[in-house]
Amino acid sequence: MKYKVPRGTRDILGKEMLIWNKVNNSIEKLAKLNNYQKIETPVFEQTELFKRGVGETTDIVEKEMYTFDDKSQRSLTLRPEGTASVVRAFVENKLYGGRLPVKLFYNGPMFRYEKAQKGRYRQFYQFGIEALGSEEPSLDAEVIFIGWKLLMDVGIKAEEVKVHINSVGCKECRTKYKEKLVEYYQDKLNNVCSNCQTRLDKNPLRLLDCKNESCGKLAEQAPSIFDVICSNCNEHFEHVKVYLDIFKVPYVIDKRLVRGLDYYTQTAFEYRNQNATSTQDAFGGGGRYNGLVEELGGPLTPSIGLAMGLDRIVLALLEKEQPQDSLEFFVACMGDDGVNRYATEIMQLVREKGYSCDKDYGKRSFKAQMRLADKCNAKRAIIVGEEELNNKTLTLKNFNKGKQEIISLEQLKQQLERGSLSV
Ligand code: ATP
Ligand code: MG
Repeated sequence: MKYKVPRGTRDILGKEMLIWNKVNNSIEKLAKLNNYQKIETPVFEQTELFKRGVGETTDIVEKEMYTFDDKSQRSLTLRPEGTASVVRAFVENKLYGGRLPVKLFYNGPMFRYEKAQKGRYRQFYQFGIEALGSEEPSLDAEVIFIGWKLLMDVGIKAEEVKVHINSVGCKECRTKYKEKLVEYYQDKLNNVCSNCQTRLDKNPLRLLDCKNESCGKLAEQAPSIFDVICSNCNEHFEHVKVYLDIFKVPYVIDKRLVRGLDYYTQTAFEYRNQNATSTQDAFGGGGRYNGLVEELGGPLTPSIGLAMGLDRIVLALLEKEQPQDSLEFFVACMGDDGVNRYATEIMQLVREKGYSCDKDYGKRSFKAQMRLADKCNAKRAIIVGEEELNNKTLTLKNFNKGKQEIISLEQLKQQLERGSLSV
């Protein structure tokens, strides 16, 4: 029997992990810089939370959830996204009683039963932020900025990503907009996919972001929310644009952009990968959800959030760079057990001083140890044999400079403490 990872999941290791580490470090730094606090919620929640919070008519709830009964017949679901859980935590922990907005971020695995392909997995990773308790348009711009800045910080170029923004209005103007859309599509139902035919009744906005080609063409000619938008939502959108300029985020207005989730109001946005050739072209997106907190049992709390698809960001970076791990020191040892013990002692000393260090564990020849040091991309070697052991010395070799020198163990200690090495 050969075991394999389940379809749509994968192991992350090697060079790819180096990129993940870089991205995760950038996330922590960026969140701190903008005063977002980390939150960790359970990986599974009551199924009802997602049905309510994500929306019954979304793809996620209709066909993508990993739902199961536990041994006490509770219906649980592996989280397909992060917002519903964060809002549940906000309400459950009464965070609305404190200083607003509450600015939170999360970073972790999400689960959706999807058609697995490049950039689309059944277990994937999202970094998300949620800012709860303000309707200020400068907050919308801050959230949009953070997603864009993360892409820039990890090494995606400004010309490789386009920030699409739109408004989906509020309950009032969206109702009018939905009517307009139903009217527009009424006599075109033969030209849209079967999915969209059934969607028109339940959630007409979703016809606009259907990935089917003929649906896409029709969507281009469809009426825009700006034909019917109310003055309040329009003003909000205008202000968001002004603040985006202040945050120096370039953007395009995209009237087809509607998020797949029910709870969004006003601002919607998405970051599109300009190099993508598939429908997996969104690095992330988000929007305002002024109604969700109330929907989930809290007080009226206008909020906005964002989710970045880390798998897609890492994939894009992997195409551009081949990261290499490195090691500060490799201890090579020529001799018997006594020398090996001396080498181990030195290795531990080096590590204690805060430098990465490794040695051979396979009784390799000296030549093979040097090859191993090279494979580890070691900057320096510390070479010891019988003579070094007897004199408490070592040979310090700098690979880049091609130089070496014999120094005492005591000198090595001092050099490491000073942070400057003689070779
Ligand atoms: P898509 O249109 O690609 O299905 P979505 O609208 O379902 O995306 P969101 O729910 O907004 O996506 O999630 C935000 C981001 O998470 C996406 O832009 C994408 O980068 C990433 N993402 C979503 N689903 C997956 C998945 N199955 N595998 C990998 N990344 C994903
Ligand atoms: Mg999707």
